[in-house]
Amino acid sequence: STTPNIVLHAADVFKNFGGLRALSDIDLQIEEGKTHAIIGPNGAGKSTLLNVIIGRIPPTSGAVIFDGTVLTGKAPHEINQLGISRVFQTPEIFADLSVLHNVMAPAFARRDGAFKLSMFRTTSREDEIRAEAEHLLQDFGMWERRHDHAGALSRGDKRRLELCMCLIQHPRLLLLDEPTAGMSRHDTNTTIDLLKKIKSRGMTKVIIEHDMHVVFSLADKISVLAQGRIIAQGLPEDIRVNPDVKKAYLGG
Ligand code: ADP
Ligand code: MG
Repeated sequence: STTPNIVLHAADVFKNFGGLRALSDIDLQIEEGKTHAIIGPNGAGKSTLLNVIIGRIPPTSGAVIFDGTVLTGKAPHEINQLGISRVFQTPEIFADLSVLHNVMAPAFARRDGAFKLSMFRTTSREDEIRAEAEHLLQDFGMWERRHDHAGALSRGDKRRLELCMCLIQHPRLLLLDEPTAGMSRHDTNTTIDLLKKIKSRGMTKVIIEHDMHVVFSLADKISVLAQGRIIAQGLPEDIRVNPDVKKAYLGG
């Protein structure tokens, strides 16, 4: 039998905020190519876990290992350079640039360090990046918007743009923190369609989500956090009927 390739491993992670234990004894393994959802009630520790993974919060103890590299102690930008991207929390769009140039920018930044406008003048590499950016915009229903200023986009279109900006970097691991938080039913459904679209792309994904309905149609595997601990892990059909999970969601 073949062993699944574990691309990310959070091992024995604890996080205390003063006297509050936000994460306890976390052991999380993310399989390559899968969509792994982390769900749990408000305050369960989901965002803290994500912030530990991306290097924004140091764990009190334990380690996060990505593809054989220990991430713990590395700066967020170093972790990003290793191929981990987070979307929906840090929208850094260039409001005065066109939608198309926004999608192209991270591809240059990734290769050449700091993003510079003058880069758009030269190289055949620009043509490749442009072609890929155009392809992403078509794929995500943004083609008509490509010459608009990014600052003029609707909230939903900005989210699509952020996703395109993320995908052009070809992350190995994509982390999404509550992609539907605060959204109307309509925007939630649009976002679910968007997430289904990216599910078909090969990269590994971790979705943090409060709304269970959002993840059941997307996740290959689910980990349930409650009060800082993983109380259940498994396939969506098992998690759905798990009595401990129901209890946690009912505040029991
Ligand atoms: P979730 O994302 O699942 O809603 P969080 O990870 O945001 O949960 O929070 C988990 C717990 O840690 C909560 O009790 C929250 O109040 C606390 N917490 C989160 N961040 C901090 C912080 N920077 N300082 C102190 N307490 C925090
Ligand atoms: Mg959160």
